[in-house]
Amino acid sequence: MLGTLVLGRSLRNASGFSASVTQLWGAPRGHPRRPERCCSQGPCAQRNRSDAWHPLWKGPASVPGGTRQSPVNIHWRDSVYDPQLQPLRVSYAAASCLHVWNTGYFFQVEFDDSAEESGICGGPLENHYRLKQFHFHWGATDERGSEHTVDGRVYPAELHLVHWNSVKYRNYTDAVVGENGVAVIGVFVKLGARHEELQKLVRVLPEIKLKGARAAVGPFQPSCLLPACRDYWTYPGSLTTPPLSESVTWIVQKRPIEVAQDQLAAFRTLLSSALGEEERSMVDNYRPLQPLMNRKRDGNPHASSRPPDSWMS
Ligand SMILES: [Zn+2]
Repeated sequence: MLGTLVLGRSLRNASGFSASVTQLWGAPRGHPRRPERCCSQGPCAQRNRSDAWHPLWKGPASVPGGTRQSPVNIHWRDSVYDPQLQPLRVSYAAASCLHVWNTGYFFQVEFDDSAEESGICGGPLENHYRLKQFHFHWGATDERGSEHTVDGRVYPAELHLVHWNSVKYRNYTDAVVGENGVAVIGVFVKLGARHEELQKLVRVLPEIKLKGARAAVGPFQPSCLLPACRDYWTYPGSLTTPPLSESVTWIVQKRPIEVAQDQLAAFRTLLSSALGEEERSMVDNYRPLQPLMNRKRDGNPHASSRPPDSWMS
């Protein structure tokens, strides 16, 4: 859990981290702003909350009494630079990639998590977390799709790399409902240059068009899906799909990655329906924004880099 924040500094000192992160992050000025979704505060957040149900979910739409649900809108100026946050250490083995399958909600790339080969540590994490799977969320159109937003800016897709705490828990199932059980790296996806490594996944999507279908991927290095600049925000949150457990340390990369229009279009050719069912396109598979609740006052996202000077107040 993140501690109380004071004027750009965190009082949290239990982590033992000492190195400062000095890499600067460029201002988003000049970026075209996407249409805004509802903010995560006030009446519209409550409306979002009641809308937090997706017809493909088999589980609950909300957690009774939940106070740290995800996703959230990240207010850049309210995020707090934490000089104690170290860079995240990422080590993935391409050979631990198992297969890709159509869950009916998104396509998911699974990894062998029986050993420590692929995982993350450092940053806000006090343990090693093993990579379990990654998946994307995307919209029916380019104007929506990401789960998190930044100052109301929506991206057309968002990648989630899901890891579990292999020091505290025996397996993913136990970790997902446990304290500090899960760490998810979120990466915004914007339209731009063709992503050559992603094409390896795009090529097999026709094989998993229907819900429940599975296909081999071969060795795949997931770090190729991370931005070159690894500055991030971190905050305590939840899974964005059932069981919506509040066990997640979110690590949201500030920089997006780019994919080509036809690559995102390939995501939208997938179906949420199984063979013999009425065809349903797999689109808009994101959860609406959730209220910050008490995180607004004492749990704003921590940032691993300072905002540009022009953003300092
Ligand atoms: Zn996700």
